Amino acid sequence: MEENINNNLVNIVTNPTLYSPIQDDNGLFIDKKVDFDANLMNHGLVCPCREIARIIFRRNANWKSHIKSKHHVAWINKLNEEKMNILTEVDTLRRENKELKILNTQLQNEIGLRNGTVDLLTEQNLTMKKTIKTLTESIGNINLLD
Ligand SMILES: [Zn+2]
Repeated sequence: MEENINNNLVNIVTNPTLYSPIQDDNGLFIDKKVDFDANLMNHGLVCPCREIARIIFRRNANWKSHIKSKHHVAWINKLNEEKMNILTEVDTLRRENKELKILNTQLQNEIGLRNGTVDLLTEQNLTMKKTIKTLTESIGNINLLD
């Protein structure tokens, strides 16, 4: 029993809830309303805007002033900026993919045409070989007549 209490104490100290913003109708990250109920006040809330020296928030007033802080606002803006960059990159990659598909189709068509040419030339080559063979045989027969 005592051990359980100690474990709970460890949990209280080491496992605060990690905050994450939500996205608005336009997909932009915005701060969400946080309800500091008894559980959250116990475990605390940490904000990922600080990677080191994280503060554990347990009261609404402190949290409200944190989300208005320069650092936090800059973090939200950075998330949105990164999101826009990713969306732009995805758009560029989609366009490139579409262009590559078109190019691939063009190249496949070209290969089809070239294969047709190779088939035709192979056929002509065989015909010529037959002709050469026939002519060579004819020459041999002429020589025999001599
Ligand atoms: Zn923050």
